Amino acid sequence: MAECLLRRRGALSPSLASLSRIAVRPHLRRHSTNATAATAQPNDEIRSPHAYPATPSPEKPSPSRWSALRSAKPFSEFLTDTFNRQHDYLRISVTERCNLRCLYCMPEEGIELSPQPRLLTSPEIVYLSSLFVSQGVTKIRLTGGEPTVRKDIVPLMQSIGNLRPNGLRELCLTTNGISLHRKLDPMVEAGLTGINLSLDTLNPFQYQIMTRRKGFDAVLKSINRVLEMNKMGAGIKLKINCVVMRGLNDREIVPFVEMGRDNPIEIRFIEYMPFDGNKWNEGKMFSYQEMLAVIREKYPNLEKMADHKNDTSKTYQVPGFQGRVGFITSMTHNFCGTCNRLRITSDGNLKVCLFGNSEVSLRDVVRKANDGEPIDEAALEELQLLNTVQTAARASDSGNLVNPRERELLDIIGMAVKRKKAKHAGIGELENMKNRPMILIGG
Ligand code: SAM
Ligand code: SF4
Repeated sequence: MAECLLRRRGALSPSLASLSRIAVRPHLRRHSTNATAATAQPNDEIRSPHAYPATPSPEKPSPSRWSALRSAKPFSEFLTDTFNRQHDYLRISVTERCNLRCLYCMPEEGIELSPQPRLLTSPEIVYLSSLFVSQGVTKIRLTGGEPTVRKDIVPLMQSIGNLRPNGLRELCLTTNGISLHRKLDPMVEAGLTGINLSLDTLNPFQYQIMTRRKGFDAVLKSINRVLEMNKMGAGIKLKINCVVMRGLNDREIVPFVEMGRDNPIEIRFIEYMPFDGNKWNEGKMFSYQEMLAVIREKYPNLEKMADHKNDTSKTYQVPGFQGRVGFITSMTHNFCGTCNRLRITSDGNLKVCLFGNSEVSLRDVVRKANDGEPIDEAALEELQLLNTVQTAARASDSGNLVNPRERELLDIIGMAVKRKKAKHAGIGELENMKNRPMILIGG
């Protein structure tokens, strides 16, 4: 098993070509025309930005880097917004269902589930993933609802994992960990590279209060299985997500930090955010500054670590601890300036901002090819959807035109991305803004 996992890690490590693609992007952008989706007219032929030529770097690269640079593609104009943010990270919600009822996520009265035919089928999810990867998405996260309750989650991950040769580098999951331990091994086989696991308390009774369900031991079993697999070389990036609510679990901040003393885990404290039906109020929100103060009382030498370009989290470490501590500060310090995320909801809407309520249906466009009906495996084959995405990507690489189906989708995606605002609303406005409940967005 260990050997097999190590082999898989090798298969997932980013190639020189894909690394250098990032390095040349800003350079190439200067050469792109203004033929963006936002300005396209209905009968215009959209030329993919992949057609634009690369200009050699002023520094002379070594021969191997040189060939990688020459074959590198510029980043898709369709996924670049008016603030030059390049969206190479896609989060897909694969179900509206969940086996927990977390206080901060799920309205007390529950949510109305969409009728099955309105939800994306697995072939549709794979087709859309493939289209986004063809445009430069390198990271896909599956979320929900609870993604592990989707019956075909493992085969779905296998199909998405198969996009690695097309440029996908990371395949991640956000999960509550209840049934993860049962599916983890085949998921890692399928190419899973990172897990964000939600756990808000280390007390089994408090767990039942916060999630309105039992299941604490199952979550610990999942965490232990990930750590065990990592010891065998699986290399899964594990982060624990903990939403801090005043008066409920703020006393547990330090015990959570101490989980990282001997474990290479990143604990990420999340500020409680308002969504429809979650009874948010500012008094229940425990801010990043307050969390820092609590940790510094016990560990005054807590150190700030360097953050990476698109990190949503501010990272710290207690000297001598194996693990790290992160803070997701959506409410008090937005990180919109470096946002590289797009979201697709379970019912197939593209959402360009977690806190924005504008959405556009990709499902309806995808289904046009199938007379508006959901696309199953047989229809996927018959319509040759995956082949046309590949043809579209290849055609655009060589400067040819993208065919009408993908062109329409890219047009719609491009227009939505171009409408993305510089930053989301502030606390006061968010509280009163209409948005889906979090369980229907996927965090
Ligand atoms: N069921 C999975 C889970 O819990 O990890 C995935 C979906 S859940 C909606 C994704 C993430 O959103 C979780 O980490 C959860 O803690 C976070 N979340 C949900 N509601 C939130 C809220 N009101 N404020 C902050 N984070 C929230
Ligand atoms: Fe379910 Fe995740 Fe929402 Fe909790 S946070 S109710 S586990 S979707």
